[in-house]
Amino acid sequence: MKDTYKHKGQRIKLVEELIKQGISDEKVLAAISRLPRHLFLDSGYDKLAYQNKAFEIGSGQTISQPYTVAFQTQLLGVEKGDKVLEIGTGSGYQTAILLELGAQVFTIERQKELFLKAQTLLNQMGYHPQFFYGDGYKGKAGYSPFDKIIVTAGAPFIPEALQKQLRIGGILVIPVGDSESQTMYSIVRLDKNEFQRTSFGEFLFVPMLEGKQS
Ligand code: SAH
Repeated sequence: MKDTYKHKGQRIKLVEELIKQGISDEKVLAAISRLPRHLFLDSGYDKLAYQNKAFEIGSGQTISQPYTVAFQTQLLGVEKGDKVLEIGTGSGYQTAILLELGAQVFTIERQKELFLKAQTLLNQMGYHPQFFYGDGYKGKAGYSPFDKIIVTAGAPFIPEALQKQLRIGGILVIPVGDSESQTMYSIVRLDKNEFQRTSFGEFLFVPMLEGKQS
């Protein structure tokens, strides 16, 4: 599938909508305006891809709504060269946004099919994060500490392992709640055992599940 002028025009409109919704980080908006979201969806979604909505990506999962991607990425405050751990690769769209911002990305997906599909697509597009098939609840201790950690599935609680894999001063962005709704949290590691939590309103994600799914 190609990236056409029509797609580019639709992206500009989407970015204008995100600005109206309160997204102000220029780098995040620029990354969204560059990245062809339609490539992360089945061809049947070609005309819908730049609507500010979540869509099915298979295995019962969804690509996050652009507003949610922009909001989480803005909260994360990615700096060039940051080591970022992402839980829930899904379509790979959020992964590509992080890479566009110059992060070094480590991404974990528990659904085998999505893990394989995102890996193929991102590599074809010229993106090369480190992909892991596994359970994001455990994080990736061997690659820690991380400057930033982003969870893109609704977690029932804040996983201890993820907090511990942040560097001092690092930030974890995670939606926490039940299947009906989750509250977005930004958690800053102030010291070895000291964390500062700030909440940022309600969102709706597919659930963060334990173990991996073949
Ligand atoms: N950022 C993705 C979001 C996909 S939905 C996108 O915009 O496309 C959330 C993803 O998290 C799903 O693919 C789901 O399989 C995955 N997931 C849920 N629990 C997980 C876990 N414990 N470890 C890793 N991935 C998980």
